[in-house]
Amino acid sequence: MTETRPFRRRIALVAHDNCKKELVQWVRENASALQGQDLTCTGTTGRLVEKALQEKLGEAFAECRLQKLKSGPLGGDLQMGALIAEGQIDVLIFFWDPMQAQPHDVDVKALLRISNLYNVPTACNVATANYIISSPLYAEEHHARAIYNFSEYTERPLS
Ligand code: PGA
Repeated sequence: MTETRPFRRRIALVAHDNCKKELVQWVRENASALQGQDLTCTGTTGRLVEKALQEKLGEAFAECRLQKLKSGPLGGDLQMGALIAEGQIDVLIFFWDPMQAQPHDVDVKALLRISNLYNVPTACNVATANYIISSPLYAEEHHARAIYNFSEYTERPLS
């Protein structure tokens, strides 16, 4: 029997190459919590997440919407950052590699900055991802994430 969910959580998933195994493992372990949600991934991560969820969920995978952006180093991190700025992401799971410099380091930094600016719950490791997905807030339709008002900044006097 498949559970019908009243709403869709919009979850972004990204992992650097050395962390992809860990993310795939996490996705497999949390497949039921990801079932029926809107998933947005950078390109290569998306291919792996898709395969893992298809294997794990079988037919129920059809309940997920999975969007693959460009690969991270080719602009995928920036596309994801733009979605966050548009208010289209609820949770970011981003396993970035603390042991290897990335060619797109500035994009990585930009994604982390924008998720922080927009108060998006962000997990950079398995422990935090587990906290987020098991939080009662994850299951709430309108969870109490403050949406900041930037009017003081946007309307600042410039003369
Ligand atoms: P990828 O991108 O999923 O396309 O590998 C991840 C990243 O490096 O940001």
